[in-house]
Amino acid sequence: MSSRVLLEVHDLKKYFPIRRGVFRRAVGRVPAVDGINFILHENETLGLAGESGCGKTTAIRAIMQIYKPTAGRVLFQRKGGLVDITGLGRQELKEVWGDIRMVFQDPESSLNPRMTVRDIIAEPLFVNGVARGKTHIDTLVRDLMTKVGLNPEHLLRYPRAFSGGQRQRIGIARALSLNPKLILADECTSALDVSVQSQILNLFLKLQQDMGLSVIFVSHDLRVIRHVSDRLAIMYLGQIVEIGKTEDIFAAPYHPYTQALLSAVPDPDPHEPLDQIPLRGEIPDPAQRPSGCPFHPRCQYAQSVCEDDAPELVDHGVHEAACHFPLE
Ligand code: SF4
Repeated sequence: MSSRVLLEVHDLKKYFPIRRGVFRRAVGRVPAVDGINFILHENETLGLAGESGCGKTTAIRAIMQIYKPTAGRVLFQRKGGLVDITGLGRQELKEVWGDIRMVFQDPESSLNPRMTVRDIIAEPLFVNGVARGKTHIDTLVRDLMTKVGLNPEHLLRYPRAFSGGQRQRIGIARALSLNPKLILADECTSALDVSVQSQILNLFLKLQQDMGLSVIFVSHDLRVIRHVSDRLAIMYLGQIVEIGKTEDIFAAPYHPYTQALLSAVPDPDPHEPLDQIPLRGEIPDPAQRPSGCPFHPRCQYAQSVCEDDAPELVDHGVHEAACHFPLE
């Protein structure tokens, strides 16, 4: 991991309007992402974890500016310095999207079934005007296919001729085609069989080493996150409630929510019994966020102050957590 910062996210918010009635008037807002802050270094992988609906996917889409943020700033390393990309126009964003690429959850639906693998992988080169003739394109596509473990002789086949794992490799090759600095991987192994998952995870690790990539790896599966990430951020109701080095958090989580999530991760030793801490109730509706600490209705350690005062994300020694009574 380099010490140079690639990405800074400052107080990023994304609220979606709640629309009702014939005229679809906005009657409220859902804070899908509600003020997240973190930095990412070059050649670093940050895991973003939490239950479904916690705002992980919205966060990376707001970082990439696919969703226009409601507030906050995203600074990205470009042309020798950190540049605020939140106010950029469409043309400038197109350039940024060459440096920040996304790998999607479902390889089945993210690839156009009527395009050959060559055209799928080469499409970003055409869109960004960096394609230089058929021979150049074919060479680049073959190189990318080899890099992600696909047979380059299959470049004229269609997605249906490939397995789920191979289709995800096609998606990764497409993401790499513009030689990006940052990959945003959105649950990219969750639609795959377990054996194929590990192959794709190992591919990510290899590509990161070989190409010096940075990755934000979104997953609800903490085993997957532990395997690939240097640091880990846990999200709950649109906020980061704990962030730090992955192994530090696994060794000693501070936040009760993190503790409960980690307790559900099976031990590598199959003889070790699972000592799972049950989470009370369901994740609340983000439009009706509980007062104070948003986790308090589900927290077994909650005290009266938790109902009124929202805890800040602060350093509790080894890493940061947003809890009035961090665990020892
Ligand atoms: Fe639980 Fe209170 Fe900590 Fe929130 S602040 S996680 S309710 S102990």
